[in-house]
Amino acid sequence: MRSGCCPDPEPGEDGAPGRHLIRSRHYKNVTDEDNNHVSAGEERDVPWVAITPVVNAIRVLERIVPEGELLFSSAHQDFSAQRGNHGALKNESLNRRIEDFVDWVNREAIAQGMPGQVVPEDPQGPVRMSRFRRSLAWHIARRPGGLVALAIQYGHMRTVLDARVSTGYGTRSRHGIHGVLDIETALASADTAARLRERLAAGEKISGPAARRALTAAAAAPRFEGRLVHKTFAKKAAAYLARDGLVLFDNPDAHLICVFKRDTALCEPAPDATAPNQYICRPGCGNAVRIDTHTVGLRERAHEIDQLADHAPDPVSRRLRRNADLLRATADTHDGTAQPSEALT
Ligand code: SF4
Repeated sequence: MRSGCCPDPEPGEDGAPGRHLIRSRHYKNVTDEDNNHVSAGEERDVPWVAITPVVNAIRVLERIVPEGELLFSSAHQDFSAQRGNHGALKNESLNRRIEDFVDWVNREAIAQGMPGQVVPEDPQGPVRMSRFRRSLAWHIARRPGGLVALAIQYGHMRTVLDARVSTGYGTRSRHGIHGVLDIETALASADTAARLRERLAAGEKISGPAARRALTAAAAAPRFEGRLVHKTFAKKAAAYLARDGLVLFDNPDAHLICVFKRDTALCEPAPDATAPNQYICRPGCGNAVRIDTHTVGLRERAHEIDQLADHAPDPVSRRLRRNADLLRATADTHDGTAQPSEALT
């Protein structure tokens, strides 16, 4: 990424502020029509949606390097390594900076009397660049529709990664970020299956067109005793996720569990996708199931929306109340149709 990669957006036609987008080039696997590697790379097809902290970080870096220069230019940021100052900072320098940053946070936390904010010692060792991949995969796999900006970021990222177009990240191979994402998604799915089994065993009822499939998937899901995963696990995870119609995806923001089956999904997954586009989950989808716990969340959310409506002008308040009523109706439908798991097996 270079200085100027994330310009301030023009406002939209309705005057609303536009979204910051990061445009950058990629170099790996870029070839011309004769299949020769293009060393100058090319601009990525899909820009990144940038949330405010990211835009702020880019603005800081743009004050350090000249216009058009790499944001992490070694020539402008690394005076000690004496490596000819070519290209971008290397992992070693970045790892050192992460350590320095953690030290600074800890010093400040103590100095400001906030010991609870200290970054704790990590039993896995210091935070390194190589560990960011798994953090990213964790967010994509487990926060399908969290905060709006993150939902867009991570939701789109899964779509971009699953589309597997021949860009740097989107290759057909399951190495690198694909493998890590598969592992994290498989672990999240196994957790969802374990929670579903527990709730049903505790007497909760289940409803939805995919209820039988959900029970089969939950019964067949593996149990993971820890979080240390061997490299070969990536292949197993990919095979596990490829079982179309038998993998469970928790969707806390839509208050449901998705038993993803490509052909019946309403969120328009790509033809070879192994995961739904949960950030655009549509009501009435044949892959959705709910248990009693979900109705509690639906009614709580409806109550929150009603409170917002109390303080909003028309027609916004009317629209909010309609949404709240829909959520309550969804909860009522569950109550009227849910069955104990024994009735379905
Ligand atoms: S629309 Fe259907 S397939 Fe897509 S996330 Fe929602 S329940 Fe799952």
